[in-house]
Amino acid sequence: MRNDKSLHLWEEANKVLVGGVNSPVRAFKGVGGTPFFVVSGLGAHITDVDANVYTDYVLSWGPLVLGHAHPHVVSAVCRAMENGASFGIPTEGEIRLAERIRARIPSIKKVRLVNSGTEATMSAIRLARGYTGRDFIVKAEGCYHGHADTLLAKAGSGLATLGIPTCPGVPSMHAQHTLTMPFNDLDAAKELFSAHGDNIACLIIEPVAGNMGVVLPQPGYLKGLRALTARYGALLIFDEVMTGFRVALGGAQERYNVTPDLTTLGKVIGGGLPVGAYGGRADIMDHLAPLGPVYQAGTLAGNPLTTSAGLATLDILEQQGAFERAKAAMTTLSEGLGEIARETGVPVFQTQAGSMGCLFFHDGPVHNYTDAAKSDTARYATFFHGMLHRAVYFAPSQFEACFTSIAHDHGTIEKTLEAAREVFKELG
Ligand SMILES: *Cc1c(COP(=O)(O)O)cnc(C)c1O
Repeated sequence: MRNDKSLHLWEEANKVLVGGVNSPVRAFKGVGGTPFFVVSGLGAHITDVDANVYTDYVLSWGPLVLGHAHPHVVSAVCRAMENGASFGIPTEGEIRLAERIRARIPSIKKVRLVNSGTEATMSAIRLARGYTGRDFIVKAEGCYHGHADTLLAKAGSGLATLGIPTCPGVPSMHAQHTLTMPFNDLDAAKELFSAHGDNIACLIIEPVAGNMGVVLPQPGYLKGLRALTARYGALLIFDEVMTGFRVALGGAQERYNVTPDLTTLGKVIGGGLPVGAYGGRADIMDHLAPLGPVYQAGTLAGNPLTTSAGLATLDILEQQGAFERAKAAMTTLSEGLGEIARETGVPVFQTQAGSMGCLFFHDGPVHNYTDAAKSDTARYATFFHGMLHRAVYFAPSQFEACFTSIAHDHGTIEKTLEAAREVFKELG
C-alpha cells in the first residue's frame, strides 16, 4: 500500500497546522503512525491521495449515517448553495429541521440550532444555570460533551487517548463547579446530590456513552438519574449529539424510555455539515433570548446548507427500513468480529447500540471509564494497523465508537471480516 503522497502532505501539514490536524483525535496518537489524507468518499468507502480505497467505519466520527456523498444530500446542498450560502435572516429550512427533530424526539418542544455539538452542550448548560439560578453541574467520567471549559473534566475521547487528565487553560473556578461521578453508578450520583443537590443546576450525560468506546447504561440507571434530578430540582440533560438518530430514530431516550428536560444534538442532523442543536421543555427554552435573558447567538446558526443537508439525511433515514439497515450492518459486523475473537482466543468485550458499536480488547465487562481504561490499547493499535493495511479504517483509538451506514452492505462487511480473520490470527 503506497502512502508517499500522504506522507508528503503530513510533512507540510505539520509546518502550518498544530500537530498537522484541526482536531487532535485525527493525529493517530493513540495507535502510532501518521494519518492518511483523504480526497473523496462514496457510500461506505473513502479514497486517499495515494488512490487507496478504504472501507470507512468512522464516517466523520458519526454524522454520515447514509454513507459518503449520498446523492439526495449532495443535490439538496448544491441547490441550497445556488440560492446563497447564508443570510442571517430566517429561512424555512430552520423550521422544517426543528419540526423533524421534534417529531422524532417528543421531549423536545422547542429547538435552537447552533454550529457544533460543543456549542449545543455549552449553551444547554448556560440555559440550565440561568433557568435554575444554580452554578454546579454534574457529569460522568469518560463522557465527552465537547470542549467547553466547564465540560472538560474527565472527558473521555481525545483526552483519554492523549492521556490528558486535566486541561490547562480551564480556570479552576470552572473545574470547581463541575462535579464528576462514575458512569453507571447510581449510588455515587445519589451521594453527590445529597451533598450538593440544592446547588446543582443540571446533570449532563451521554445516555449511551460513545466517547470512551461505547458503554451501555445498566438497567435502571437512566431512570434512576431522572428521578434523582427531579427530586432536587436539577435539570437532566441527555447529550445525544452522537446517539441521536443512531441508537434509535428517537435517540437513546426513546430506546430506554426516559424523558430528559433538555437534549443536545449534532452530527447526524447536519448530514456532514457543521451543526449542533439543543431543545427541550418549552418553559425552559423560553428563557433563551430573545424571549428570555439567557443569551446565546450565532452568525451562521441554522444556515441553509446545514438545514438542507440535515433534512435530506433525515428524509432518507426515515424511509422504510433505512435506519434498520444501518443498524443491521453493525449487528453483522459485531457478530462476525465476536466469532473471530472466540475462534482465535482473543479476549474482547463488545457493545452495540443501533449503528454504533465498540470492540474493547478487554477481558471482562465494560460499564464505566475505569473498566474501559483497562483495555489493551497496544493490542488495539495492532488491530487498527492490521485492518488499515487491509484497507479497512476503524477509529484510530480504542476509546472511540465504530459506525455503520445504510451503505455498508453485506459484501462490504464480509470483506471486512475476512481482513479481521487475518489480523486476529496475528493478535492471538
Ligand atoms: C461529538 C460530540 C460532541 C461535540 O460535538 P462537536 O460538533 O465535535 O463540537 C458533544 N457530545 C457528544 C456526545 C459527542 O459525541
